[in-house]
Formats: sequence, C-alpha cells, structure tokens
Amino acid sequence: MSGKDDIKKHYKVVIVGSGPAGLTAALYTARANLEPLVFEGYEAGGQLTLTTDVENYPGFENGILGPDLINVMRKQAERFGAITIFSNIDAADLSSRPFKITTDASESEQSGLEVYADTLIIASGASARMLGLPSEKELIGHGVSTCATCDGFFFKDQEIIVVGGGDSAMEEAIFLTKFASKVFVVHRRDSLRASKIMQDRAIRNKKIEFIWDTVIEEILGEKGKGVSGVKLKNLKTDKITEKKVTGVFVAIGHTPNTQIISKQLGTDENGYIITKNGTSETSVPGVFAAGDVQDTRYKQAVTAAGFGCMAAIDAERFLEEHEG
Ligand code: NAP
Repeated sequence: MSGKDDIKKHYKVVIVGSGPAGLTAALYTARANLEPLVFEGYEAGGQLTLTTDVENYPGFENGILGPDLINVMRKQAERFGAITIFSNIDAADLSSRPFKITTDASESEQSGLEVYADTLIIASGASARMLGLPSEKELIGHGVSTCATCDGFFFKDQEIIVVGGGDSAMEEAIFLTKFASKVFVVHRRDSLRASKIMQDRAIRNKKIEFIWDTVIEEILGEKGKGVSGVKLKNLKTDKITEKKVTGVFVAIGHTPNTQIISKQLGTDENGYIITKNGTSETSVPGVFAAGDVQDTRYKQAVTAAGFGCMAAIDAERFLEEHEG
C-alpha cells in the first residue's frame, strides 16, 4: 500500500478496482514494466472480501479465505512494481487521452488526487444487492451468501433459502438442489420475474418449494456458528413465522459499479460495460473493462482474473501501437 506522496502525476496504466480482475491486470501490467497505479476503492478486494472459504480458485488445494486470496494477489502485483492505494475514484474524464482521474475530496489521506492515465482498466466490479438487514451483514460469509456456485458445496443435505424471484434466484435455487435437501425460494410477490423457461425448471424441481408474498425479517444465527433459521413475514397477512434453515442465498440482482464513468462508455440496459468481440476493449479507445463490471454471465473470481489478464494484454498492445 502506498501513500499519497508516492503517487506520480502521469501513468501508462491506471486500474480501478482491486478484486481478482484489477489485481490480475496489475500483476500483468507490472510484469510488463508499465508500473500500474491501482485505485483499490473503499471495498478493497471486492466481493471476495465478503466471503470466507474459497475452494474453487485453482492453485489452493485446501482452499483459501477470500480476504487472504486478495492479500496474496495484491502482494504478488506489488512485488513487480504495481502501486496500490486505498482510494475511490471520484471522476474519470474519458473525453481525451491521457484520461484525467480525480479522487474524492473527502478528508482521507488519499483524497484530492489528480492523475493522468494513457490507458485505463476499469475493474470496479459489481455489488450484489442485499436485503439491508443488520443480521444479514453480520452473517455474510457465515451462512449468508450471494454466490451459489461458490458456497453451495457447504450445504450438503441441508435445508436452505434463496431470496428473489428473478432468473438469478431460479438459477441459484436449481443449482443448490445438487447439494441441499430442500431449497425454499422466498419471494416478495406471488409471481416471478424470471423467464418462463427458468420458472418452469424451478417449479418442476421437487426439491424446490416457493414461499410467496414473503420477506425475511431477520436471519437468526451467530458469526462463527452460522445460520440457524429466519424470521419470515407474510406481506399479505403480516404474520411472522420462524423457519429453521442453515443457509440464506440472497439472489436479488447485482449492480455494476459504473458510477464513475456515468454515460461516457457504452453500457447495456443494466449498466454493465459492453466490451467488443471477445476482448476487453470498450467504446472508448484506451479504456478497457475487466471482471464483473462487464460480465453478466460467469461472475466468478477465476473468470474475473482471466478478464483482468485480457485487459492487461490489450492495454499493453494499445500502448505499443499508440506510443511506438
Ligand atoms: P432481477 O431480474 O432484477 O430480479 C431481482 C429479483 O429480486 C426480483 O424478483 C425482485 O423482486 C427481487 N428483489 C429485488 N430487491 C429485493 C428486495 N429488497 N427484497 C426482496 N426481493 C427483492 O435480477 P436477476 O435475477 O439477477 O437478473 C438480472 C438480469 O440477468 C436479468 O435480465 C436476467 O434475465 C438476467 N439473468 C439471466 C439468467 C439466465 O438466463 N440464465 C440468469 C441470471 C440472470 P420483484 O420481482 O418483486 O421486483
């Protein structure tokens, strides 16, 4: 981690985001002697820091804790000269190169910075939407999860809940029936938002049971011990009931973190950055996107790392072509 005084005015590569995409882009560009600057953001490490055991990231036979994986990635990138700072980007002006990047004007040590970037790699991720319950915050990574692919394995033969009524919730619920003995889908209305085909698959699945017109009032359990149940509220009757479950998967959608680029880059209707023809190139030459900020499909740590590698190589080639 570097201090404000270590920051230069001009960089060949600036990376926004410090999840697996950003840190892999940092590693590759650092090893190409491009001395990247990484703005880590307030939630340094991204979604992996909200999880405990990561068992599906190749190279760690016995798994690794999410925050530890991020620390290793950061140190690996720094070893080759990447500069990482804990700071959020306030604005990025993509109208001409070099791109002007400013940090927020808060009172933190890293505030009020202004740097110029020949290339910009946006790896600011997507944030899983959460229910907003204090107990949910307390138990995330301890029985509360936002990723079935990552955590489903830990719930073999157990009864669990998936919250949501969209395609993500159906997909997560169907996937989780490979492990869980029962999956309750808790949805706040009496009809699903999911596509017909996903609805049909979920409804046909004998391990899935729907709990309609219902929200979670509180998740019961203890950090370290895990989830023991939930308090449910039926929105039509106001009746509160308790249900014993050992896991809660929140699948109410993601929000890509694209606020800083606002309308300067091409995005889809949900705000995800659009990349071109299987590359990391965006609608602005010299700006590349990697990881969940442009990935509506896979959203895995390992795929994010792969996208980060692609963006680094694309940025390197761009610099070669444009700067001789
Ligand atoms: P989504 O379509 O926005 O659905 C979010 C669901 O969560 C909705 O059912 C919504 O309820 C519910 N919800 C939102 N906030 C809530 C809250 N605070 N408390 C309780 N429930 C809440 O999100 P998504 O399912 O992640 O899908 C996003 C996009 O990706 C969609 O276009 C989807 O088709 C696509 N996708 C496709 C696939 C696939 O085809 N295999 C898989 C995943 C995602 P309401 O319905 O009442 O609003």
